[in-house]
Amino acid sequence: MHYYSLSNPNEITSFSKAVVNGIAPDRGLYFPSEIPKLPASFFETIEQMDVHEMALTAIEAFVGDEIPRTELKRIVKTTLDFEFPVVPVDDQIGSLELFHGPTLAFKDVGARFMAQCLGYFNQQNSDQKVTVLVATSGDTGGAVANGFLGVEGIEVVILYPKGKVSEVQEQQLTTLGQNITALEVDGVFDDCQDMVKTAFLDTEITNQRKLTSANSINVARWLPQMLYYFLAYRQLKKKKQPLVVAVPSGNFGNICAGMIAQQMGLPIDHFIAATNVNDAVPSYLESGNYQAVKTTPTISNAMDVGDPSNFVRIQKIYGNDYKNLCQHLSGYRFTDDETRVAMKEIYTQLGYITDPHGAVGYLGLKEYLKDHPEKYGVFLETAHPVKFLDTVESTLQTKVELPQRIKALLKKEKQSTPISSYADLKAYLLA
Ligand SMILES: *Cc1c(COP(=O)(O)O)cnc(C)c1O
Repeated sequence: MHYYSLSNPNEITSFSKAVVNGIAPDRGLYFPSEIPKLPASFFETIEQMDVHEMALTAIEAFVGDEIPRTELKRIVKTTLDFEFPVVPVDDQIGSLELFHGPTLAFKDVGARFMAQCLGYFNQQNSDQKVTVLVATSGDTGGAVANGFLGVEGIEVVILYPKGKVSEVQEQQLTTLGQNITALEVDGVFDDCQDMVKTAFLDTEITNQRKLTSANSINVARWLPQMLYYFLAYRQLKKKKQPLVVAVPSGNFGNICAGMIAQQMGLPIDHFIAATNVNDAVPSYLESGNYQAVKTTPTISNAMDVGDPSNFVRIQKIYGNDYKNLCQHLSGYRFTDDETRVAMKEIYTQLGYITDPHGAVGYLGLKEYLKDHPEKYGVFLETAHPVKFLDTVESTLQTKVELPQRIKALLKKEKQSTPISSYADLKAYLLA
């Protein structure tokens, strides 16, 4: 297995280089040279397989021999050490809860897997210290910080917009210490993102530090997300109904990993991309013309993405063929008001609490199932409701009990360094 740049098929690299560099030198996204098919016997016995064995079998071809099997098994075990239950919401709908990890959001899996891979490559080549530089609008930063905490030879620098992330999110970013530094930027998320991009191109910095990113563009963060879909299928196989999956989508990394799983042979009947009003992909599915949109802030803010980076990978998977894509993917967009109504409905009628992102997924699923009543649907609940506590409590008019570890987290002391310009970031990185 090798990886090539989607901007230039001749730009080829190994898994380890793709992980360390994040993005191809021509700024293209890396894509695997092939998508291996799993044998029928794998799917026949999937529900009896040990979870870690199943995950290892699914992911190992993408890593190849660059990480020894025993080491990869350890990485898989460390990554998947919590539950991924499908909770029935009604007769036709289940919620795949991806929020039982350390930072209560699905990004924990990708962040941990990437951290462990990078840590391994770093051990093999230990003169090369790596700095992971990441801008976050909330969830990514916490997951990355947690995933990389204590990983030898790696320093993590996180930029987040002052006053624009939730209290839980901020505590997750700023209280870890060790090899994690949080820079509190006087600005918005786009300012953080711009500073990070500038730093990557600044040779004064890159001559001195090996920089890498940890966003969903990185293959080691993107690909392990395929495991959610295997984990869902093994719980639902007994239903013997066609399985459709609705994914609340922002940068489209998660859904795109699901599509890879489907290409490997996983019996997923159809995908539903559910977005908030940042709807570049649903609009594309309607018109056949792709146009980035200007980002609008919403209550499902982890999906406030106007130009989803992973969409080029999705197009690649379906042969850059619009009709083919439409056969596998439906898209729907929802406003904040619709999202709030859905959150209330799910709570009062079905007794289940969703966060705003999960609610968008639920809405997309409902819409699709109207025309396909014979199918069974799962929506991905991508974050624990307490990560969006204000929205959830004000919408549901109820108090949500905080998990014990969140209570403990809120008591920890915040440590962050305020910065207000690129010059501040540069000075920090060169110090
Ligand atoms: C990141 C995130 C999403 C969007 O996932 P993508 O892979 O970027 O499409 C959805 N929900 C939550 C809670 C997230 O943190």
